[in-house]
Amino acid sequence: MSDCLFCKIAAGEIPADIVLETDDILAFRDIDPQAPTHVLVIPRQHFDNVSDLTRDDKDLAARVLSATAEVAQLETLERGYRVVTNVGSDGGQSVRHVHFHVLGGRGLTWPPG
Ligand code: AMP
Repeated sequence: MSDCLFCKIAAGEIPADIVLETDDILAFRDIDPQAPTHVLVIPRQHFDNVSDLTRDDKDLAARVLSATAEVAQLETLERGYRVVTNVGSDGGQSVRHVHFHVLGGRGLTWPPG
């Protein structure tokens, strides 16, 4: 999508601090980190949010989830971490391109606000 921020990051048109990169997945540091480690994992392909992923996308979805674990390993989050995806306005989604937050490096409280 031409007006999508994360599509532009995936295309290299907007710079990002990249942690992990494959043909179809990108992981980069959040510009406004909420924890010592805060990385966003996205498929390069545009989906508005996780609700748009279907059975046809199961292999890509598995690779994205596997990439969150790989990021946690690269960031040495051996004490634990959180993977979050926000959906829609009530879910707190501010960027409409599916992304998984990987948060760690401190104790995280529950429930979120
Ligand atoms: P969400 O609110 O769940 O949609 O998450 C969007 C995230 O994208 C927020 O945590 C923002 O801080 C982050 N963000 C926005 N613009 C950028 C950017 N240019 N580079 C990296 N992260 C960004």
